[in-house]
Amino acid sequence: MKKNSAGFIIAIDGPAGSGKSTTARLVAQRLGFFHLDTGAMYRAITLKIIEAGIRLTNRRQLQQLLDSTQLNLKWENDRLRVLLDKRDVTEAIRQPAVSALVSPVSAIRSVREKLVAEQRRLAAGRNVVCEGRDIGSVVFPHAQLKIYLDCDLKERARRRLAELKGKANLEQVRKNLAERDRIDSHRRHSPLRRARDAILIDTTHLTIEEQVALVCALARRRLADPD
Ligand code: C5P
Repeated sequence: MKKNSAGFIIAIDGPAGSGKSTTARLVAQRLGFFHLDTGAMYRAITLKIIEAGIRLTNRRQLQQLLDSTQLNLKWENDRLRVLLDKRDVTEAIRQPAVSALVSPVSAIRSVREKLVAEQRRLAAGRNVVCEGRDIGSVVFPHAQLKIYLDCDLKERARRRLAELKGKANLEQVRKNLAERDRIDSHRRHSPLRRARDAILIDTTHLTIEEQVALVCALARRRLADPD
């Protein structure tokens, strides 16, 4: 398999709530890799658009906003912090208003171009666990290991609700996940899709520990025998 210039890349794609973030974070911790949460980057841009009050149809203002945005991810006490123009927005990007707008924002080509370039920059020279929707298909098509996590919608809604600690109800969460899946899978640019060479893992009946152990075992096998 072709070696990626960025180091060893584990690409994890899948729909919202399939367990990508938790799995990626724990796999990265266990293997000593950098965790790249690309969804957090799309959420940060969305937060900035909301705060600036820019309409998505105003492409000129949107481009200006993108050109003047600095995004960074940094590890602190085993947690990934998201920095938007040097401001810590780790918590702010999880609010429902951001979840409601993030998929329409992510469907815009100029947004994707900016963030894919940033993702490649952040991964350069590192061993990375990178999670998102288009990682194995577009961002790192030569990733040494590609995983596609899937999960039943009802179970995904239940898990996401637990993360939100009761700040929404199950039906609201289920609707938001279903709507994001629909937009993410049908958009023209880089739709959510399982890459041909991605290993499918259905997490509906798996615990986090089982998912993490499975991905780590696959990664160790690839690390030992990259070809
Ligand atoms: O991973 P998370 O659910 O936080 O991602 C939020 C949204 O960001 C997704 O619903 C999707 O619209 C967008 N996204 C994307 N491409 C990625 C990662 C996330 O379009 N690589």
